[in-house]
Amino acid sequence: MSDAPILQVKDLKKHFLLRKGLFGGVSGRVHAVDGVSFDIGAAETLGLVGESGCGKSTVGRTVLRLLNPTAGTIHVHGTDISTMGARALRPLRRQMQIIFQDPFSSLDPRMKAGDIVGELLSVHNVGDTRSDRRARVAELFSHVGLREDQMNSYPHEFSGGQRQRLGIARALSLNPEIIICDEPVSALDVSIQAQVINLLADLQAEFGLSYLFIAHDLAVVEHIAHRVAVMYLGRIVEFAEKHELFSNAQHPYTESLLDAVPVPDPTIKHTRRRLQGDVPNPIDRPSGCHFHTRCPYAEERCRVEEPILKEVAPGHLAACHLK
Ligand code: SF4
Repeated sequence: MSDAPILQVKDLKKHFLLRKGLFGGVSGRVHAVDGVSFDIGAAETLGLVGESGCGKSTVGRTVLRLLNPTAGTIHVHGTDISTMGARALRPLRRQMQIIFQDPFSSLDPRMKAGDIVGELLSVHNVGDTRSDRRARVAELFSHVGLREDQMNSYPHEFSGGQRQRLGIARALSLNPEIIICDEPVSALDVSIQAQVINLLADLQAEFGLSYLFIAHDLAVVEHIAHRVAVMYLGRIVEFAEKHELFSNAQHPYTESLLDAVPVPDPTIKHTRRRLQGDVPNPIDRPSGCHFHTRCPYAEERCRVEEPILKEVAPGHLAACHLK
């Protein structure tokens, strides 16, 4: 890993306005992402973890500029892309790709697999001839463990894991540096999840890719992330190098997520408290620490005062009044 970050995100916010009816005034605001900062270096994987509705996928889409940020900056190799227009963004789009959660709905069922993987090559005019592009697609099939003759098959002829391999091949087609992996294994059987994670790790080693790896449980990022950010209701509440986070979690929310990670040894008993209740409505977030309605350690101060994300150990940040 190089020290210079490829991607730097600073105080990123994405708020959605709620309106009364089609032409009505603004009735509320969803703080989907509310001041998120991180960076990712070359060949590094940052795991971004939290329950559904915490804003992690919105972070991924906003970083890619599929959504416009409300505030904050996104630097790619030192260039701020947060307010760039579509024309200026076009060459940068080649550097940043996405792998979607659902390999079933993200592939056009009417297109042959080779055309799906080669689509971006045509859009970006890569390769002089059709046969150049065909050769590149065959190479991509090989990189993701698919056979060349499968280029003529349709998505329904592939298994779930193979369809996700197609999604990965398509994301790789333009030689990107950064890939947003948006819950890429959540829709797959557990037995297939490890294969896809191993493939992503192998591709990272081969091509020096940087990943923002979004997942809703810590078990998935354990094998691929170098550092992990834990999100709750639009904010990062804990951030640390992976081994530090797994061995020395500081935030009660991270403790709860860790408690949900299966332990292979049945003789080991969980001592942490399990997470109670659902994620609160992001339109009407709890006051003070947003986690106080579910936190077993909450005290009066937590209900009124918002904790800031501060360093609790070198490189380890947590947002909790008790730390
Ligand atoms: Fe729990 Fe209070 Fe810490 Fe929030 S600030 S995580 S409510 S102890």
